[in-house]
Amino acid sequence: MGPGHFGIAFAAKPAAPKVPLWVLLVASEALDLLCFGFVTIGIEKVGASQTDLSWGVTVLVPASIPWSHGLFMSAIWSAVAGGIAYLVFRERRTSAVVGLVVFSHWILDFIVHLPDLPLLFDGSPKVGLGLWAIGAGVVISGILEIALLAGGVVLYVKKRTPRKGKGKGSDHPHQG
Ligand SMILES: [Zn+2]
Repeated sequence: MGPGHFGIAFAAKPAAPKVPLWVLLVASEALDLLCFGFVTIGIEKVGASQTDLSWGVTVLVPASIPWSHGLFMSAIWSAVAGGIAYLVFRERRTSAVVGLVVFSHWILDFIVHLPDLPLLFDGSPKVGLGLWAIGAGVVISGILEIALLAGGVVLYVKKRTPRKGKGKGSDHPHQG
């Protein structure tokens, strides 16, 4: 969970212009929203951890989040999101972009999380590169998240600018 996920959503917007930005923002955090729902109904458990700026995150009680953050289920949710996007927008590319935005959440979590992301379900190997646990990793990942968000926003704004012209001066679509 963090602002970095939103960076992906901003960056993806030019590739899927038909999709409202808020949909992409929600897609980038879809796994966390699912996690929230699953914890509420009791099939997932958030763990307990301690954060120290010099030592990073120490896990006190491991989380159990296979339904929202397992690699297998994350791929399923991404496919579901892509499928819904296809039904709505009828475009393969748009569908693929939405699916990838959902899946990008898992990739970013994989980089920062301590190994609490199961490959399948509870009992299967758990992965996570654990940037949060390496020395000042929490600070580093915070900086990376903000950089990612800023990069995404810059990309989004840059790609938007040329279309901002209010008058449709040249109405001729380029043929071919
Ligand atoms: Zn997450």
